[in-house]
Amino acid sequence: MIPNFSSVEFEKKYTYTKNDLGAVWKKDKTIFRVWAPTAEKMHLNIYKSGDNLNDDLIKTIEMSAGEKGTWLTEVSGNLDGIYYTFNGVCDPYARAVGVNGNRAMVIDLVKTNPIGWENDKNPNSALSPTEAIIYELHVKDFSCDENSGFKHKGKYLAFTEKGADYLANLGITHLQLLPVFDFGSVDETKSDGYNWGYDPKNFNVPEGSYSTNAYSGGVRIKEFKQMVQSLHKKGISVIMDVVYNHTHDTDFCFNKLVPNYFFRGSSNGSGCGNDVATERSMVREYIVKSVLYWAKECHIDGFRFDLAGLIDTRTINEIRKKLPSAILYGEGWTMNTKPTKKNIRLATQINSSKTGSFAYFNDNTRDALKGSVFSATDKGYINGANHKIEEIKRAVQGLPTWAQNPVQVINYTSCHDNLTLWDKINSSNANDTFEERVLQNKLATAIMLTSQGIAFIHAGEEMLRTKNFVYNSYNSSGEINYLKWENLNRYIDVYDYYKGLIAFRKSNPDLHLKTADEVRNSICFLPVSDENIIAFLIKNRTLVIYNPNRSETKVTLPNGGWGVYINDKKAGNNLLEKAQNTVTVKPISCMVLLSIF
Ligand code: CA
Repeated sequence: MIPNFSSVEFEKKYTYTKNDLGAVWKKDKTIFRVWAPTAEKMHLNIYKSGDNLNDDLIKTIEMSAGEKGTWLTEVSGNLDGIYYTFNGVCDPYARAVGVNGNRAMVIDLVKTNPIGWENDKNPNSALSPTEAIIYELHVKDFSCDENSGFKHKGKYLAFTEKGADYLANLGITHLQLLPVFDFGSVDETKSDGYNWGYDPKNFNVPEGSYSTNAYSGGVRIKEFKQMVQSLHKKGISVIMDVVYNHTHDTDFCFNKLVPNYFFRGSSNGSGCGNDVATERSMVREYIVKSVLYWAKECHIDGFRFDLAGLIDTRTINEIRKKLPSAILYGEGWTMNTKPTKKNIRLATQINSSKTGSFAYFNDNTRDALKGSVFSATDKGYINGANHKIEEIKRAVQGLPTWAQNPVQVINYTSCHDNLTLWDKINSSNANDTFEERVLQNKLATAIMLTSQGIAFIHAGEEMLRTKNFVYNSYNSSGEINYLKWENLNRYIDVYDYYKGLIAFRKSNPDLHLKTADEVRNSICFLPVSDENIIAFLIKNRTLVIYNPNRSETKVTLPNGGWGVYINDKKAGNNLLEKAQNTVTVKPISCMVLLSIF
């Protein structure tokens, strides 16, 4: 009979909070401990290799029952590099695994530290979240294109190469990597698989296919750390996309060791058939410790929670408590899930007042800008819908209806899901000229980067990335997904414009206000003569104007002299021209002026 895992009695009896689950390596012995309160017997298998297809068992050792439903055993000698399973199953707390993640490995983690690791730190720890410019990227998309110039194509190590300076030159502050934990959808014994990786297999281990050797458990960890260290040296913080809401399948090792514990049964909010029961004490323990592990051991600076709306707010808040300065955000959509306890509150947009500075993706702004993501032809403010004025006014204040403060809001025009910005513009506005469509792209990002909140850019928007109109390219070919570096030269003016917008945003504190009060007291909308035009003044010194129309418009300037820093062609910290009394804003463009006397 399955005990009531979610009952107070069960949790009191079996919640184990110490930090020694898994294999704790020491030079002369390793202690193994696993949480399996419903097991009648547990045994440890140790193996020579990490490939479960190899018949190379060294020995089997019975484990003894310990406190709070744990089982343990101690093996003497130096076990660094030895592979193991519990009852034939991978250790859910594994820090290292063999190829394809079926066997765990005992590891001396110090050996995986690159030279200088002890001095490695977050280069942007002093930034407030609204100063972050996040860039969302897939490891393979970055470097796999045949013209990319990278040596380590598709690997963590590509980020240690000179070509990765591209990211720093663009000006981003944070790189958000699509899943880099060990996922199950790519066969690590082959070199050509592609998947986004939203199918966790081992939560505390880097994915093997991005390493140069997926067979030897330490290599992927070392190369992962080299990537982080190298990005930090370039001034870029690293954010992991983490998927604690479901797993690759219900064969997930934790669930095999404690059947029916890890999931919410028939609940299927994720669409993957296995919503994680984050509200159960040992699942919460597991998630919180996993996030902390990445932060402490691998120096990860922030976390993007996939389908945060399936995770309970208490789990999110415990993570926040342990990582007070990390940038934390997620997808706060309301999901149809069935938690295993009563009165569980989930981390959705509408519950944002209960999760403090945890931020949520702002789909309101995303769709107001360019039309619904669920339609190829629906239009938004930048590409021809002239009824989105009020939404855009809310957007620039970083205060969609569900948010209390701009620090809770991630602004974006597109992300890995749905059409790229350029594909959306092309599908909704196919009859516009190329020049008009480029202006729409630039205007969308100019609005996003002059809005309050946290800025988020989908990799390649700055070089008009297309995925050939594929909405969900999670397992599409490289041809669809990889960044095509020849487009950088082809559309260098778009790249320069993005770079200039980023530089301007970073140097102008008026664009990253921290509180709703500050926003309300600082932003003032100005009267305009033409319809669809939005003009607003921040702190009486930064003037922003959007013109989505096909014709130019004249805007009356407040008293004094003004300098134009952003127009239809250029953006940055250089004064482009001076203006007084009125200014003319070109069709489909943004203009930003600063008070100069
Ligand atoms: Ca894997």
